[in-house]
Amino acid sequence: MSGDLDRADSTVAHDPADEATPATPPCVEVTDAREAMVGTMPVRRLLPRRARRTVGAWCFVDHMGPTTSDGPGIGPHPHIGLHTVTWMLEGELLHIDSLGYEQVIRPGQLNLMTAGDGVAHAEEMTSQGSPHHGVQLWVAQPESTRHGEPDFAHHAELPRIDLPGVDLTLMIGSLDGHSSPVRADTPLIGVDVAATAGTAPTIGLDPGFEHAVVVMEGRVVVDGTDVTPGHLAYLGRGRDELRLDVPDGARAMLIGGEPFEATPLMWWNYVARDWSEVASAHDDWEAGSERFGTVASAIDRIPSIAPLHRS
Ligand code: MN
Repeated sequence: MSGDLDRADSTVAHDPADEATPATPPCVEVTDAREAMVGTMPVRRLLPRRARRTVGAWCFVDHMGPTTSDGPGIGPHPHIGLHTVTWMLEGELLHIDSLGYEQVIRPGQLNLMTAGDGVAHAEEMTSQGSPHHGVQLWVAQPESTRHGEPDFAHHAELPRIDLPGVDLTLMIGSLDGHSSPVRADTPLIGVDVAATAGTAPTIGLDPGFEHAVVVMEGRVVVDGTDVTPGHLAYLGRGRDELRLDVPDGARAMLIGGEPFEATPLMWWNYVARDWSEVASAHDDWEAGSERFGTVASAIDRIPSIAPLHRS
């Protein structure tokens, strides 16, 4: 499911007075998600929030469900300047894009779509009435790649690190001698943590990165602070390891990366740097330009939201 920013998110999408909070020394700064609907899917939007807009290049995190899938899914819509990372805990989605890829994604697999200068996709529900639970994240592309070619990659297998009572899946980046095959344009980490009750995994970190923890199920305790679904715990920069206390069992995600080079301007599905780029993408999508191609989906395409400014 796409976590497209809707009009309500424009309040946090970009306000010149609302610049990114810089990376801080180690901390545990818990922010609340905003409840939103993406199509028929209830989501908890954990990034961007006013207090915290990026964690490394991670610029968007939607925790979808858990719920029962209904409705067709999300129709064709465009993206620029980002990678979408789709990660399912339960259920599946069918990705269809303007590059010609059609790919079902299932739990444990990772879809990475690169927008570059422009791509469009749809995310269809394949089975009505079944459990549906996942996360969609966006990674902002750096200047060096954000005007480049779009791409799509499906990763059916990812490195796994199994500790007693804890399964780590390395979504992106490197950990403990393992490296994920998933493309990263800037130094990044993403780890899925499935931990049984009474465990306390310690994960090695790059102290040059800033990090955050998102909990999808259960509860983890970080430096004495409870983190539960609907909250993002920002951990700052400068940690070389992280201990997660898991008293009752949990499913969580660790994300992090080198502090990003810019504060992206995020409007609807566009990750840009200024309003002229957003206006150009908006006009091109509304005009049906070749820039975004066509998506072979039966669902109606989604109209773009006019930008607040054009320059
Ligand atoms: Mn999307």
